[in-house]
Amino acid sequence: MDLYEYQGKELFQRVGIPVGEGRLATTPGEARQAAEVLGGPVVVKAQVLTGGRGKAGGVKLAQSAHEAEEHAKSILGLDIKGHVVKRLWIARAAEIAKEYYLSLTFDRGAKKPLFMFTTEGGVEIEEVAATSPEALVKLHVDPLEGFHAWQARRLVYGGRVSDQGEQKQIIAIVGKLYEAFTRFDAMLCEINPLIVTPDGTVEALDAKFTVDDNALYRHPEIAEMRDREAADPLEAFAREKHVTYVKLDGEVGVLGNGAGLSMSTVDVVTFAGGRPANFCDLGGGGDAQGVVDALEVITRDPQVKAIFFNIFGGITRCDEVARGVLRALAQMGIGLPIVVRLDGTNAEQGRRILAEAAPPNLHVEPTMLDAARKAVELSA
Ligand code: GDP
Ligand code: MN
Repeated sequence: MDLYEYQGKELFQRVGIPVGEGRLATTPGEARQAAEVLGGPVVVKAQVLTGGRGKAGGVKLAQSAHEAEEHAKSILGLDIKGHVVKRLWIARAAEIAKEYYLSLTFDRGAKKPLFMFTTEGGVEIEEVAATSPEALVKLHVDPLEGFHAWQARRLVYGGRVSDQGEQKQIIAIVGKLYEAFTRFDAMLCEINPLIVTPDGTVEALDAKFTVDDNALYRHPEIAEMRDREAADPLEAFAREKHVTYVKLDGEVGVLGNGAGLSMSTVDVVTFAGGRPANFCDLGGGGDAQGVVDALEVITRDPQVKAIFFNIFGGITRCDEVARGVLRALAQMGIGLPIVVRLDGTNAEQGRRILAEAAPPNLHVEPTMLDAARKAVELSA
């Protein structure tokens, strides 16, 4: 779950990472009031769950409350990479002498949290990694050993921060970032830019915070932060139905039992020259209700032109799944072509059950590749 900048900053604040003062606003009038309360110049910042707001015109400096209101008018409703701005963070403007970058993310390959630090902040980190990789300091933390202060020193010295005051503050922030990361079960905590003001104070000017969905049950107050309107309505619907669903861009709806098989199904659709419309995992089960729920989610996506239902019967027997599919079709009346591949336990029985009922839009194929080709053909 991605958090808005202001929510990430709230979590930063809880562990003691310095962030500037600010107020939330959803109307130009509220933006003006917020600026009045804060006093002095402010920054009007679009709150959207994507980066690069500055470049897109979503971050604007205002010298007065009136100007803050004008900026709010232009930023509210702005479309930033498909995200429409509905909330603004009105922040007391900071003076910037230097822009650094600090992040902590989960490196799945290494199975360890990974710190990255560079004094070349402000720009996108991918750019730094591409143009001056030597300026990017990386450091893994072994979760079993935990974080140690020397690791923060290594980051800061590695980044060639020479000012002692800065060193001290950044070292403290690094430790607190690790605390935020572990305490709130984060997948990513990014500060870009981490600024140094002209008087030498270091603070987080921006916050990108992603919390592990699977740990949200431990953090009801963070789960509460989810913006239900901003979430993809289809993904929200899937969550309600307890269906594992990820929306993709293509035309072939993909449904498999088990995450591994569903992933392979996405791959084989691509291999067959098609484009998967989604990733949907039925889980280990395959009862009629599960099938109905999953099909209901997939068919709500208007981009879907054909459905590829890929089942490998293990504990769930193919004959049961076949009955589930028929019951689901009877219940829902789906007009889209559905290609079913059944293999594994009781596969033949399952195929026979489907063949006997044989609604005209149901196609049974013996192999995964045949089924993928058929589904791709029908989605064109
Ligand atoms: P992003 O573009 O979505 O990453 O949004 P940021 O919060 O990082 O802001 C983008 C840029 O706007 C920053 O890199 C700064 O250069 C500038 N900016 C943001 N807040 C302030 C501020 O308080 N004062 C000044 N002078 N510049 C700011
Ligand atoms: Mn930023």
